[in-house]
Amino acid sequence: MLNTCHTLEKQGFKVTYLNVNRQGFIDPEELRKSIKNDTILITIMFANNEIGTIQPIEMISKIAKMYNIIFHTDSVQACGNVPIDVQKMGIDSLSLSGHKLYAPKGIGALYVKNGIHFEKFMDGGHQERDKRAGTENVAGIVGLGKACEIATNNLKWHMSHLKELRDYYIEKIKEKIPDAILNGGMENRLPGNSNFSFPSVDGEELLFLLDAKGICASAGSACTSGSSKPSHVLSSIGLSDELASKALRVTFGEDNTKEDVDYLVDSICEIIERSKK
Ligand SMILES: *Cc1c(COP(=O)(O)O)cnc(C)c1O
Repeated sequence: MLNTCHTLEKQGFKVTYLNVNRQGFIDPEELRKSIKNDTILITIMFANNEIGTIQPIEMISKIAKMYNIIFHTDSVQACGNVPIDVQKMGIDSLSLSGHKLYAPKGIGALYVKNGIHFEKFMDGGHQERDKRAGTENVAGIVGLGKACEIATNNLKWHMSHLKELRDYYIEKIKEKIPDAILNGGMENRLPGNSNFSFPSVDGEELLFLLDAKGICASAGSACTSGSSKPSHVLSSIGLSDELASKALRVTFGEDNTKEDVDYLVDSICEIIERSKK
């Protein structure tokens, strides 16, 4: 979203970027105040990929409606993890990605409410009502549809299972590594998301050693991996570059178990103990 906004700015559009608080939430009042006469679009991430913050979507959409502005949300992290009802929530446009909810890679979707005009994003054939050129990826589309159906049916179990693992992990980390800092809050957080900064160990080293133990985690987001810049998300919630570089983001999935969490916590403790010597 940020990069799209930067591109729009290069094309002459004006973009206002909102601040977030320590937990990563925007302030709806700040949003309301930053609306100008010529504002045409509000776009706010439904849920953050790094710290799991779930924004107050219905409050945002109410403000957008009040001023007759189209509201788009990147719901890639939210789809399959929290209930979404575009009509009830007043969402005009929403994007999602298949592989984040167990669909195949290479498929995603853009929802746009009837009556909203938008430009096609590439030229070519007239497929998909002339909005997306190219022969449709039928296998991917069917896979995404099925994944959404399964996600909807499983949502209750999915949420409680992931939340249980996450809360168990957070509790154990707080107990065993008292100087660990939880990034983001506990309220309105994606059920499977955790993000701790461990001041006593180098972030890259921790990831590397966890990987050697068969544990896949990340420092920031995949989109920024390989760059040495601190995560813009962690910077925006007020973390120093130092603590941002020591963040470990762990997201749990449906196949994970409590034993996995035990193994994960033991591994982190062992690595931190060893790095102290
Ligand atoms: C993963 C992700 C994307 C990018 O989706 P891809 O299909 O993996 O390119 C965009 N936004 C958020 C919030 C994400 O988590």
